Amino acid sequence: MRLHWHRRDLRLADNRGLADLSEPPTGVFVFDDVVLEHAGAPRVAFMLDALEKLRAGYRERGSDLFVRHGDPGAVLPALADEQGADVVSWNRDYSGLAQRRDDHVSEELKADDIILQKFHDAICHEPGSITTNKGDPYSVYTYFWKKWRDREKEPLRAVPDLADATDDEPIPTLDELGFEAPEAAIPEAGTEAAREQLEDFLATDVYRYDDARDYPAEGCTSRLSPHLKFGTIGIRTVDERVRGALASAEGEAKESVEEFRSQLAWREFYTHVLYFNPEVVTENYKSYDNDIEWEDDSELLEAWKRGETGYPIVDAGMRQLRQEAFMHNRVRMIAASFLTKDLLVDWRHGYDHFRAQLVDHDTANDNGGWQWAASTGTDAQPYFRIFNPMTQGERYDPEATYITEYVPELRKTDPEIIHSWHECSRTQRANAAPEYPDPIVDHSERRETALAMFERARGESD
Ligand code: FAD
Repeated sequence: MRLHWHRRDLRLADNRGLADLSEPPTGVFVFDDVVLEHAGAPRVAFMLDALEKLRAGYRERGSDLFVRHGDPGAVLPALADEQGADVVSWNRDYSGLAQRRDDHVSEELKADDIILQKFHDAICHEPGSITTNKGDPYSVYTYFWKKWRDREKEPLRAVPDLADATDDEPIPTLDELGFEAPEAAIPEAGTEAAREQLEDFLATDVYRYDDARDYPAEGCTSRLSPHLKFGTIGIRTVDERVRGALASAEGEAKESVEEFRSQLAWREFYTHVLYFNPEVVTENYKSYDNDIEWEDDSELLEAWKRGETGYPIVDAGMRQLRQEAFMHNRVRMIAASFLTKDLLVDWRHGYDHFRAQLVDHDTANDNGGWQWAASTGTDAQPYFRIFNPMTQGERYDPEATYITEYVPELRKTDPEIIHSWHECSRTQRANAAPEYPDPIVDHSERRETALAMFERARGESD
């Protein structure tokens, strides 16, 4: 018998490790306190729902998902012994933390003469497989994307025959794991929900994705991110369906599908970046000659977290995060830019907040996004190109539909006033929306301060 250790592959179908034909598998999931320490309630809530569904899938097939709590280096050898399993398999996880854990577990299993089988599954092309002609990992996305797009993809694997098994351990509740119920509404997990989400998206939105994806009120993105994070759907399944849409589309619709596919490749690009540079979780990817002198004002940081900065698009995004444990991509970019370039707060504080709040938090993507916004990452926004949060709001939410959905204080306010909130007098603001805060900083002034901060880091001024 084989134990397949599920981590971020909470599904049965299109699962490369599980589908290996060496021995019939049954599944195991281990609640590891070291991992839980880095988790936020929204993500854990989604994961628990995914585990319930995964276990139901095992049970329908006469097998089970074993659920244990503790150090996987102790739990897995003990369970293998108890169940008479001589093989343990898993799909690789590419963060530094996961790799350290996996090395430790490998040692413990080898000491018990258990055979280990490790697979690539979470992304289409594993780290090291897409490189420059010299064999180095890419630090520029465009070249990576071209190779990723044209490279042949692995076929989908069916659900294998599973080993007979039963487990009486219940899946713990959020409370038992030490988390409070999240304030946000958490989307449904599980493969069925993921597939429905994908098919809904492929029915129409994928064909207008290129034009509409930057407009948060359009709601035209796939919302697959938590499913891809926890692997409730396999990436090959998604890509195969998207390639099907690509083959049947023409003109702008085809470009749109291609644009969506390129977002899937960003996810893989950042996974490669993290794998080859595990230190980026806490360090700048791109170093400057001098340290960046972030101001790190805690009151400004707290106002940003609460969505009370007086910059409507930023506040709408931060409140969407609180209500849905999700934020639209364009707004993530604006909110992250605002924190780093207007409030001059170190990206690591923003990253920590997103890590705790996002249902789709993914170390590679979240880090990539933050370092892009902070001008410290691969392919990052140049330090001198600073988003103006008002013009961004005006351009991407002209009627303030998204803003007023999340900022009720502005619902009766004319979009023109909303988009010029920072230029209105105090009296105008008090008349237009008395409950909504004044801007906490002056964007034009802060822009100059941010430029000077980066120029000092570059050693260009004193
Ligand atoms: P879609 O537009 O439908 O894209 C499909 C999938 O492609 C996404 O689900 C995601 O897996 C991938 N993808 C899309 N855009 C990106 C991108 N820029 N980088 C990497 N992968 C991408 N994405 C996460 O999955 N987890 C995070 O923790 C995360 N944090 C971010 C933080 C910041 C500051 C920024 C700027 C971006 C972050 N992103 C993150 C990327 C992006 O915002 C989300 O993937 C996207 O908003 C998820 O919504 P969707 O599934 O509807 O995306």
